[in-house]
Amino acid sequence: MSNQFRSIRGIHDGLPEEVRRWRHIEETARRTFARHVFSEVRLPILEPTAMFVRSIGSDTDIVAKEMYRFEDRGGDDICLRPEGTAGSVRAYLQAGLTRSGAQRWFYMGPMFRRERPQKGRLRQFQQIGAEWFGVTGPIEDVEILAMAQAFLDELGIPELAMEINSLGCPACRPAYRDKLVAYLEARRDKLCETCNTRIDSNPMRVLDCKVESCQAELGEAPEMASHLCGDCQTHFDGLKTGLDSLGISYLVNPRIVRGLDYYNRTAFEIVTGKLGAQGTVLAGGRYDGLVEELGGPATPAIGFAMGLERLAMLLPEATSDTADVAVVAIGEAVSGYALGVADALRRGGCNAVPGWWSPATMPARCAKSTIC
Ligand SMILES: [Zn+2]
Ligand SMILES: [Zn+2]
Repeated sequence: MSNQFRSIRGIHDGLPEEVRRWRHIEETARRTFARHVFSEVRLPILEPTAMFVRSIGSDTDIVAKEMYRFEDRGGDDICLRPEGTAGSVRAYLQAGLTRSGAQRWFYMGPMFRRERPQKGRLRQFQQIGAEWFGVTGPIEDVEILAMAQAFLDELGIPELAMEINSLGCPACRPAYRDKLVAYLEARRDKLCETCNTRIDSNPMRVLDCKVESCQAELGEAPEMASHLCGDCQTHFDGLKTGLDSLGISYLVNPRIVRGLDYYNRTAFEIVTGKLGAQGTVLAGGRYDGLVEELGGPATPAIGFAMGLERLAMLLPEATSDTADVAVVAIGEAVSGYALGVADALRRGGCNAVPGWWSPATMPARCAKSTIC
């Protein structure tokens, strides 16, 4: 056995049973997103490292510890994409689409992060995401949230709940941040080590710390949604009114935060009770500052992403690849004829398998049989 190769740790094979579920999810995504006139893009897996350093931030776990980053044979610093938004923005700019009106895109494919496999984390995982460039909202925010919800409903994911928040904007966030930092400073010694670092680097991230003793300290923490400027308040109210008018129920969750300055206003997650405390199925939000951050003109945008493997775990039941018809030849003399019949059936759009009469070769899950 010693000379037998194994896949890299945390990187799994997709075998038929699993791929059937994945394809069902992908096809449902294509169908539901097409109804909202989102178009599929297929973007590179290898991208320049600097692009992610700029978009995700050098002090995040993803960039500091988890990216598959290397120098290629020409000496370029490249990496396997850890997420899909930065590449989408790059492609949007590179294609010169900033003056072509709003663009609605979706993507699906593998992403890579060198996380700990012992925690059940995958190092190659698949994401499905959508990005909508050139829209300010809040009506478009409502529409993309509704698309996400419609997709998960159509898949039949159980116990879904939508949670929303507003992250404010560069006008109202600094004053809020000062207030939050003052609150956190007063409790510095009761917060975990990560939180202590984040008070200085990224105070809003302290709010979503998963450590229980930290959460216990945060009960009275000031909330962004109560410190919005007039424009952000109008935007947030518009989002809520829009969701109401579609009959989508939601909860305002002040713990939904994003780490970086280019995120603003709408942030949302769709969670399921089926996955316990960390039941996030889909997460997204508005990132009006990112296109500019990556070198383009100021362009508002909103998007979301979700992990395909997680969705697959939540699917109500597996589908299977079955034959509609098994063409069974009784006796070798007519086996050629059976092949011909199966071929004709397939050309007519039928899933057919030819067989030879014996219990071992009879397909197990076949709806009906034709005997030649
Ligand atoms: Zn604001
Ligand atoms: Zn903490």
